[in-house]
Amino acid sequence: MRVSHLFTKTLKNAPADEVAKNAQLLIRGGYVYKEMAGVYAYLPLGLRVVEKIKQVVREEMNAIDSNELIMASLQRREIWEKTGRWSDEVVDVWFKTRMQDNTELGLGWSHEEPIVEMMKQYVHSYKDLPVSLYQFQAKMRNELRAKSGIMRGREFVMKDMYSFHENAEALEKYYNESIEAYKRVYDRLGIGDDTYVTFASGGAFTKFSHEFQTICDAGEDIIYLHREKNIAVNEEVIDDAVKELGIAREELERVKTAEVGNIFNFGSQKTDEMGLHYTDKEGKQQSLYIGSYGIGVTRVMGVIVEKMSDERGMVWPENIAPYKVYLVSIGEKGSKKADEIYEELKKRGVEVLYDDRDERPGAKFADAELLGIPYRVTVSDRGVEAGECEYTARVTGETERIPYDQLVTIIDKPSI
Ligand code: ATP
Ligand code: MG
Repeated sequence: MRVSHLFTKTLKNAPADEVAKNAQLLIRGGYVYKEMAGVYAYLPLGLRVVEKIKQVVREEMNAIDSNELIMASLQRREIWEKTGRWSDEVVDVWFKTRMQDNTELGLGWSHEEPIVEMMKQYVHSYKDLPVSLYQFQAKMRNELRAKSGIMRGREFVMKDMYSFHENAEALEKYYNESIEAYKRVYDRLGIGDDTYVTFASGGAFTKFSHEFQTICDAGEDIIYLHREKNIAVNEEVIDDAVKELGIAREELERVKTAEVGNIFNFGSQKTDEMGLHYTDKEGKQQSLYIGSYGIGVTRVMGVIVEKMSDERGMVWPENIAPYKVYLVSIGEKGSKKADEIYEELKKRGVEVLYDDRDERPGAKFADAELLGIPYRVTVSDRGVEAGECEYTARVTGETERIPYDQLVTIIDKPSI
C-alpha cells in the first residue's frame, strides 16, 4: 500500500476528550476513528491488526476442533427470559430496541442463551457430542463508563466459543484444553509472559471461573499474584480463594491488570433451564454440560498498544503489525529506487507500506514511528550512490546500512 493512497492521515494531537493512551495513539495513527465514547470504527490500518489477532485466535480454536460460525446481533426476548437474564436488574448492560410491530429485541451482549436455543435443533443424541462452536462478533454492551479507549467499548469485537458435552468429565477435559489454547493465543500475541490464568467469580457449576489477566497499568482490574507458584486470584474472590488454595494473603503481590479473556464452566445449569438435553446410549434423556469461552479481541489490541508503545508511538509485535516494512523514499533518485524495491517486496509477498509522499524525511520518520511498523527501510539519493539503504528496527531504534542486494534476504529472514 502506498501512503499516498491511504485515506487516513496521522494527527499531531488526539481529540481532547480522549483520555486513554491506547485510543489517543490509535486515533493519531489513523487506526481507529472515534464515533462516540466507547464506539470506534476500525480504519484500514486498525482493521489489519484486528484481522491478524482474529487469525491467531482462529488457528488456535480450530486446533481444538471448534467450528466457526456467526450468529445474529438481534436477539429474542423470550430466549433470555428462560434464564431470567432479560431483566435490566440482572444484566445491566443491555441495549434493547423494538420492531415496527413493537416486539422487543435485544442487541447481543453475549450469545450464551441464543446458542443453547439454536443447538436444540442440532443436538439430540450422544452421537452429536461433543461439539464446539465459536464466532467473532461485535458485542453491544451499555457500559456505564467508557474511559479506557478500545479496552472498554460499548461495541467491541469478542471471540466467543461454546462447547457442549455428555458429562462433567468431558466438559472439564475440553475446558482444560481450552486453557492451553488460550495460553498459546496470548503467547503468539506477544503478551504471554504477562498474562495469568486467574481464579475469578462467575462459575455456575464450579466455584470459580478463570480469567486471563494481563499486567497493564491501564487495566481496570486488580489481581493478587504469586509469581513463583504461578497463582493469580481476582480481587473479587480473594477471601474464598486463599482459603481454597491454602495460600496466605501476605504472599501475594497486588497488580493492576486487564481481563483479556474469561472462561466458564456452566455444568448443566443453563441447558437444564433452557431444556436442551440428549439421549444416551441406553435411550435415556440426559443433561448436557456446557462451557463458555471469551476473548476480548479489540481489548487485547488496546492492551498491546498500552504495553508496547513508547514516547514516539506504537510498537507492534511483528505477527500482528498491519505491515512489516515502512518504506521511505527521499529525493528523486531515492524515489525511483524505492519504487523498484516496493515492487520487488510486494512480489515476494512482504507486507509493505510505502511512504511515497513528497514530504520532509523527518515527517516520514515520525509517521513510521507513530504507526509502529516493525522495520523502516529508507532509500535516499545518497544511499543510491553508495548502493545501500537504511534498515531501522522500531523496537530498538537501531539503524544498519545494507546493500540493496541483501535487503530482501534480511527482510525475509524469520524474526526472533
Ligand atoms: P469486564 O469485567 O471487563 O467488564 P466481563 O467480565 O463483563 O468484562 P466477559 O463477559 O467475560 O466480560 O467477556 C469476555 C471478554 O470480552 C472479556 O474477558 C474481555 O476481554 C472482553 N470484554 C468484555 N467487555 C468488554 C468491553 N466493554 N470492551 C471490550 N472488551 C470487552
Ligand atoms: Mg469476564
